Amino acid sequence: MKVLVINCGSSSLKYQLIDTETEDVLAKGLCERIGIDGRLTHTKSGSDKVTKDVPMPDHDKAVSIVLDTLTDAALGVVSSLNEIDAVGHRVVHGGERFAKSVIVDDEVFKAIEEVSDLAPLHNPANLTGIRACMKLMPGVPQTAVFDTAFHQTMPDYAYIYGIPYEYYEKYKIRRYGFHGTSHSFVSKRAIELLGKPAEDTKVIVCHLGNGSSITAVEGGKSVDTSMGLTPLAGVSMGTRSGLIDPAIIEFIADKEGASLKEVMSVMNKKSGMLGLSGVSSDFRDLDKGISEGNERCRLAVELFAYQTAKYVGAYVAAMNGVDAICFTAGVGENNSMVRKQVVDRLGFLGITLDEEANKIRGEEQLISTPDSKVKVFVIPTNEELAIARETVELL
Ligand code: ADP
Repeated sequence: MKVLVINCGSSSLKYQLIDTETEDVLAKGLCERIGIDGRLTHTKSGSDKVTKDVPMPDHDKAVSIVLDTLTDAALGVVSSLNEIDAVGHRVVHGGERFAKSVIVDDEVFKAIEEVSDLAPLHNPANLTGIRACMKLMPGVPQTAVFDTAFHQTMPDYAYIYGIPYEYYEKYKIRRYGFHGTSHSFVSKRAIELLGKPAEDTKVIVCHLGNGSSITAVEGGKSVDTSMGLTPLAGVSMGTRSGLIDPAIIEFIADKEGASLKEVMSVMNKKSGMLGLSGVSSDFRDLDKGISEGNERCRLAVELFAYQTAKYVGAYVAAMNGVDAICFTAGVGENNSMVRKQVVDRLGFLGITLDEEANKIRGEEQLISTPDSKVKVFVIPTNEELAIARETVELL
């Protein structure tokens, strides 16, 4: 099957066309600045990347440009749209309604709309992509794969917050967790590598990227995760504060004469690594800062590794043990210094890092020594492939 995977944001749209038999990416690309002006970056497998400015007043136009490009004589990889068997969409929030991926029909579309107040920045954009594909590819099955679905197995005491219960009943305020597609993909692979029946495994996945979350996976199921009602919770991230004392919000609002919305924007966009270092949200820039003796870059990265290690420690307690710890996503796959800082704090678990193996970047690798009591893996994530696999399974 050929599955088009779409990740639609408010002004961008990422796509990959995947041959699910070989799991090869036939073409991939990105539409940016939708609704502003419009730019397409497209790569046909085996060819150079092409970038061009194309007007994209809305998502319908962006999708139609993607479809034209995929069928283009020079840039394309299929001769007609009939060759695309299905479209798999990344959807951020499925609320409590969706514990699994689904084929989208009118009722599902409405249900996704209904949970959109839980992800007002993301879900409406995801739905725009689905709507555009339904319109331009009538009859082609569309699936929705949710970031939250994998975490729907958490027990109630892990997902409930210590606030009046009626807020859960009235507004569904609870921990949902995100990056579920990645946590599911990476933990499945770790279970294969452990070579034990899934039900006997305890795995912790550290998805460390621009957004970061850590998940405890027991018996193949998510039992706790660091993000919450929104992706703002958990460890400090590229620009997000992560978990802080909630009273800080009101304190800053009073001191700065700022509105709640303004303070929340600071927590989402100007905090974390960026806010602490004053240099960048990107770990490559922070590494450079550290090598030049920048103290605040050192502080930001040390806090990140410290907080990550604390979550790992907490999840060892939550599962009463751990067989494997996995690092994935941009930072987890590429930044050996961060991995070392995290693992060095976990010596009490009998873990030892293989320093040589830890030099790996972007490839699957066991990075603990043979005598380490817990295995530590680098496992590259692949959310697009996971969405394509889910789509095939559903169909
Ligand atoms: P997102 O959450 O946006 O998907 P990523 O998983 O791509 O983010 O992670 C982005 C972070 O990963 C950046 O801080 C960047 O420094 C780091 N990163 C990504 N690729 C590399 C690389 N090849 N080498 C070093 N660091 C990388």
